[in-house]
Amino acid sequence: MSRTHRIVKQRLESLRDAGVEQIGRSSVPDSGVAGVTSAAIPTGTAARSQVDAIDRSNPTMTVAERQAALNEMCSDVAACVRCAELASQRTQTVFGVGNPQARLVFVGEAPGAEEDRLGEPFMGRAGKLLNQIIEACTLRREDVYIMNVLKCRPPRNRTPANDEVANCRNYFVGQLDIIQPEIICCLGAVAATNLLDSNTPIGKLRGRLHDYRGIKLVATYHPAYLLRNPAAKRMVWEDMQIVMKELGIPVPRKKKP
Ligand code: URA
Repeated sequence: MSRTHRIVKQRLESLRDAGVEQIGRSSVPDSGVAGVTSAAIPTGTAARSQVDAIDRSNPTMTVAERQAALNEMCSDVAACVRCAELASQRTQTVFGVGNPQARLVFVGEAPGAEEDRLGEPFMGRAGKLLNQIIEACTLRREDVYIMNVLKCRPPRNRTPANDEVANCRNYFVGQLDIIQPEIICCLGAVAATNLLDSNTPIGKLRGRLHDYRGIKLVATYHPAYLLRNPAAKRMVWEDMQIVMKELGIPVPRKKKP
């Protein structure tokens, strides 16, 4: 399925989910679906990375349009009070960070104490390990996009409740719709089971490619789990090699997270 085909299909699915049963020509917005050539994407910097270098010939939104759409959603999230407990206890919401046209998006579970304090995902110990994983893939944190299923910290870092995930679903689905990555890497069971709508344990979901609304998805162990179980790093490295292969990034021989 082409990227354009996938985006149109997803937009139609979103409209259907919102209760729209019929659309006429005039209800399809012109902006954002027109083909934009890679010339519109600023790639000429010295810091041009592997991610920038790969074919971007059929994007449907410019990088500026994607950033604007993410900014708008970020403002909505900052004002969100759907989960009374989370909204009353958070320092701030934690939306997501990174390249608005990333080919690779990491999805974690929910902000922890450090993320709640700083307003950015994966900033604590697990975040440092995630940075090492990204670097082991010969990428930089700013090349990818990093986000969580939940945008607010659950008290005492408890597992997100189902209704909390449901309340955040429009946001994390929306972020992925805007970014349209080529591959999603789910970090841990909460992200994997909620994106794949599956009850299968993470140990059985990892190690292979899945499909999320036409986007490839790899599930792997959460970095926080790796901090407690360093032996699982080997499996995460295997999973990251699947991701790299899909992105056409050569797998480095020696470097591992
Ligand atoms: N764990 C997560 O899942 N997300 C974060 O942002 C930090 C820790």
